[in-house]
Amino acid sequence: MSRQALVLFSGGQDSTTCLAWALDRCEHVETVGFDYGQRHRIELDCRGQVRDRLAREFPAWAERLGPDHLLPIEVLGRISDTALTSDAEIALRADGLPNTFVPGRNLLFLTLAAALAYRRGITVVVGGMCETDYSGYPDCRDSTMKAMQLALTLGTDRPFEVATPLMWLDKAATWELAHRLGGDALVEIVREDTHTCYRGERGQMHAWGHGCGACPACELRANGYAKWSATGRA
Ligand code: ZN
Repeated sequence: MSRQALVLFSGGQDSTTCLAWALDRCEHVETVGFDYGQRHRIELDCRGQVRDRLAREFPAWAERLGPDHLLPIEVLGRISDTALTSDAEIALRADGLPNTFVPGRNLLFLTLAAALAYRRGITVVVGGMCETDYSGYPDCRDSTMKAMQLALTLGTDRPFEVATPLMWLDKAATWELAHRLGGDALVEIVREDTHTCYRGERGQMHAWGHGCGACPACELRANGYAKWSATGRA
């Protein structure tokens, strides 16, 4: 693993765990987020909060945490009519994919992140893609990530690595990874400051964090937390 990494950081549980993972093993870590006209801006607001709290509570990580980059890509909202960028209800489509699927989103994110990383002298891009507990998004698959890594390497003539530490973890294991990396302090940051809810609701504070509690993202997060609390928590 290179000593420098750029983390795709949305302010959610998965990308926060990825950020901690990178801070644990790299000397210099930068973050990038994308503003594509999400229905709810709560995730974007969480980003600064999470970064600040990580730096405050983990002084060794503070030294490694480099700048944050927020890239506006409204064009994605223009070409995508999905439940993430419009006011449509969240539902399953006829082919089994949720209508929250934004075609090409992760491909675009990785390409933009790699372009930014290139300019920053970084060749490792870290993302929270996962095909264990996922919604079936084809652009979260390991094979897609491997193909992107090859395309980025060939297309830039730099040895790009797309690191996906959560790829084979279920949500309970993602909670456990956070605990292993940063103990109870990191779990508290994930619980209190990250945002995963598709509906963008902060709502009340549950054991697993804030959210509506009913959308697919909240369900995954809540079930994972319950499973980890019951069986995995050291
Ligand atoms: Zn929710």
